[in-house]
Amino acid sequence: MAKPKVAIFDLTDCEGCEVEIVNSKYIDRILESFEFVHFRLGQKTNKWENFDVAFIEGSVITSHEVELVKKIREHSKFVVALGSCACFGGIAALNNFTDVNEGKRYVYGKEGEKIEVIEVKPLGEIIKVDAMIRGCPIVREDFDKVVSDLLAGKIPREHTRPVCMDCKSKGNSCLLLKGTPCAGPVTYGGCGAPCPSSNMPCDGCRGPLEMPEMTAELELLKKIASQDDIIRLFRKYTSAAQAFRAVGGGKQ
Ligand code: SF4
Ligand code: SF4
Ligand code: SF4
Repeated sequence: MAKPKVAIFDLTDCEGCEVEIVNSKYIDRILESFEFVHFRLGQKTNKWENFDVAFIEGSVITSHEVELVKKIREHSKFVVALGSCACFGGIAALNNFTDVNEGKRYVYGKEGEKIEVIEVKPLGEIIKVDAMIRGCPIVREDFDKVVSDLLAGKIPREHTRPVCMDCKSKGNSCLLLKGTPCAGPVTYGGCGAPCPSSNMPCDGCRGPLEMPEMTAELELLKKIASQDDIIRLFRKYTSAAQAFRAVGGGKQ
């Protein structure tokens, strides 16, 4: 039987999520089970065909990347957004809140004016996305689960628990209740809460829950944090996510 054809594309990003894939403990089985048709980071020879699954990592920040993801969509049965950059704009979405032209001039001088940067949006607002693997970087086990589901012919489904549940299962005492702003109650869990377990607040790298209780979260945060601190909390990895945009001061 022919192996499913897989492609991994990267846009504007740090490629850290692809590194997590390469480090998967199931990488041998993954390489045996799929034909990697396009994987720039992992192999020398790449080609364009029709893909069974395309993973797209990175933020879309140029019109060239908009055209590229549309082309990938046309060639793919199933598209997976890989990591916070693709799922929710990632760090590059901070461009949405700054004077990008000033930044370009600062780094590149007059030449910077020629560099195009568009408003950064989640990939799912540009093309249809069938599944997301969240996080900055992704959790390897999430990638392994999506791959197993695809091999079994199942549509990957996400669980819907907040980071707080992971945090509680680790026996941590709550940072939010001790006065430290934390996005755990409104953020998708499944990461194992490494940040609060290290006494650092969750700053939402896995993006918002499907129906986050933003009103209750903001009421709590306003008692312990300044408006600037609240904006900073939601304006980091996932500021282009719908539910976090308004809080982070972005466009709805
Ligand atoms: S989500 Fe994070 S780790 Fe993954 S590519 Fe983007 S910046 Fe890198
Ligand atoms: S520290 Fe953060 S993630 Fe942990 S229980 Fe409190 S609010 Fe939730
Ligand atoms: S605790 Fe929050 S910021 Fe840390 S990995 Fe999990 S979702 Fe990301």
